[in-house]
Amino acid sequence: MARFYKACFIFLMVMLLPKMAFASVNLLSDIRIGKQPQSHTRVVLDLAKTADYRTFRLHNPERLVIDISDTENKVPLNHLNYRDTYIKDIRIGEHKNHTLRIVLDLAYPVNSKISTLKANSLYGERILLDLYKHVVITTLSQPVMRADANQGERDVVVVIDPGHGGKDPGATGPGGIHEKDVVLKIAEDLQKQVNQQPHMKAVLTRRHDNYISLRQRLAIARKNKADIFIAIHADAFKESSSHGASVYALSLRGASSEQARWLAEKENYSELGGVSLHDKGNMLRSVLIDLSQTATISSSLLLGKDVLTNIGQFSRLHYRKVEQAAFVVLKSPDIPSILIETGFISNPRDEKNLNSTAYQKKLAAAILKGIEHYFNQRPPVGTYFAARQAKRHA
Ligand SMILES: [Zn+2]
Repeated sequence: MARFYKACFIFLMVMLLPKMAFASVNLLSDIRIGKQPQSHTRVVLDLAKTADYRTFRLHNPERLVIDISDTENKVPLNHLNYRDTYIKDIRIGEHKNHTLRIVLDLAYPVNSKISTLKANSLYGERILLDLYKHVVITTLSQPVMRADANQGERDVVVVIDPGHGGKDPGATGPGGIHEKDVVLKIAEDLQKQVNQQPHMKAVLTRRHDNYISLRQRLAIARKNKADIFIAIHADAFKESSSHGASVYALSLRGASSEQARWLAEKENYSELGGVSLHDKGNMLRSVLIDLSQTATISSSLLLGKDVLTNIGQFSRLHYRKVEQAAFVVLKSPDIPSILIETGFISNPRDEKNLNSTAYQKKLAAAILKGIEHYFNQRPPVGTYFAARQAKRHA
């Protein structure tokens, strides 16, 4: 008899096991693909319940992969329509340990943002994959698309911002030298040297001893469609022994406060990296600004490193690394921007150097070298530098 109960028990367990396992399994119930206006594809994955997932990118060919734990697929893939999207194909397979692997074959390298939405009265749990045209973010590190070779070969634009001016003299050295005067000289030298290079153009935010506000300086960079922005300053400190040059990029804190400003003042900030933000909702605006700012800070750090390395060839450095701070003039979310403290005007030796014509020219030459190196690494879309890089990689 005992044997009979044992057999019954085993039979029941065998019958129940798959059901018990099934009860904990999640279900992918639908895939919805929407082509949003303005170069944006959204893929919505509808799930029965909250899921653990991870995503990663694969290149050559471009793919976006999403692994969802303990999930089964109930979606027939042949009804999906990819027309006018960045997706060429979607493949689904079961990976290890009941992990559902979804592979999006992409038509281009795109920027992606993954988010989740909680269930509401209309839909269950959702994973959102937002794909943005790569060109939106012109400063990202990925190689420029081959097609860019045909988009013309415009000059790169360097906006140079000599600090202070007019009623604002900036720092003043022990010898009576004003920051506003030496930084204008260095900026003028830099402009001249940049303009002597083929395929490069430099614009100054001020050409005279006049006052302009920090926000005006940002506006001048936008108006001139700056590819990069270089602010030139000289430091001062109460201890006259402080000396040497340093380079700053924007800090994350500065970036997030600027993002808030862009979201609040929609009328003033309606264009980002050549893309109109006018018709975009808050969510998409914030995604675009965020993507752009992150990419821009990484480019600014690279630009800063290139410039700092070259200045360090002949000048003493205050910091060996690119520093980050919330300087207002560095806040353009789509223009890689650095601030160069060319030396300590409060230090007698630095003051003398900064006031010397030969030293000013040398500084400008070092900055130019850094800029050129940067443009070769991250050529802005549509420029001669980008076309040359595309040809090299062809
Ligand atoms: Zn200054």
